[in-house]
Amino acid sequence: MKVDLHSHSTCSDGLLSPADLVERAVLRGVDMLALTDHDALAGLAVAREAARQRGLRLIDGVEISVQWEATTLHIVGLGIGTAHLPLVDGLAAIRAGREQRAQRMAESLDAAGIPGSLEGARRHAKNPELLSRSHFARFLVDAGHARDTNAVFRNYLTPGRPGYVPHQWAALADAVQWINGSGGLAVLAHPGRYPLNQQQCERLLGEFVGLGGAAVEVVTGSHAPDEFVTWARYARRFGLRASAGSDFHGPGEGYRDVGNVPVLPAGCDPVWSAF
Ligand code: AMP
Ligand code: MN
Ligand code: MN
Ligand code: MN
Repeated sequence: MKVDLHSHSTCSDGLLSPADLVERAVLRGVDMLALTDHDALAGLAVAREAARQRGLRLIDGVEISVQWEATTLHIVGLGIGTAHLPLVDGLAAIRAGREQRAQRMAESLDAAGIPGSLEGARRHAKNPELLSRSHFARFLVDAGHARDTNAVFRNYLTPGRPGYVPHQWAALADAVQWINGSGGLAVLAHPGRYPLNQQQCERLLGEFVGLGGAAVEVVTGSHAPDEFVTWARYARRFGLRASAGSDFHGPGEGYRDVGNVPVLPAGCDPVWSAF
C-alpha cells in the first residue's frame, strides 16, 4: 500500500488545488493520502469528495504552527475531527496572527529596499486567510531578487535576514490538545529540520509524549536517509509511532513528489495502522 501522510494544497502554500492534488496522488498510485495544509482545514471537504470519486483513501489532516521555547515546530494532526470548535477556533487565531506577521515582514522587506511584497505575496495566495513565507518567496523570485525559492530562504525570510520577523505561534500543549480533542493523532513533523541538539530533542520528545503526542515523522521529504534511521530509533525509545509523508507542495518545488515516500525502517510502528 502506498501511503503519503503529509501534503499541501492551495488552501495553504501548495501549488495544486485540493482536487488536483488528489488527482496527482491517484495518478502516482497513492492509496492513502493526508492533506495537511498549514493552519487551515478549508481544503478538506473538496479533497474528500475528489478522493471518494477516485477511490483514494483521504485522511483529514492539518499542520499546526507551534512555538516551543525558541523554536518554531510543526505538529501534524491526522484523522482530525474538522468540526471540533477548539481546533477550528485555534486555527482561526493562528491565521489572524499570520496576517499581522505578513505586514511586519513586508515592512522589513521595505526597509531592505524591496517594496510591494505584501501585495505581491497576496497575489500568490489563493487562500487570502493564509499568507505564508512561501508566498513571499514566490514573489521575491518573480521580482528578480532570487533564482528560486531555495535561494530566497538562504538570503531572506530566515533569522537574521531581511523579511524575517519572530512570531508567537500556538503553544505545543494547545496544538496537541486541539488535535486529540478532535479525535485525531498528533505527529511531530520533520523533526530533523529543527535547530535542536540531542539533549533538546530528547526534552521535546519527552514533553510531546507527556502531552499526548502519538507519532513522529520518520520518513519525510525533509530527512536524508540516515535521518530515517535516527528518527526511527527516537520513535522506538519514546514509544511513539512512525509517520511518513512527502511534504509535497507542488511540481518542481521541494525534493519529493506526492507519493514518493520510502518505506519505514524496520521496527517502526506505522501510525496509519490506526486508520
Ligand atoms: P510559514 O509557515 O509561513 O513560516 O512558512 C513556512 C513554509 O515555508 C514551509 O512550510 C515551507 O513550505 C517553506 N520553507 C521554509 N523554509 C524553506 C526552505 N529553506 N526552502 C524552501 N521552502 C521553505
Ligand atoms: Mn509549507
Ligand atoms: Mn512543515
Ligand atoms: Mn508541510
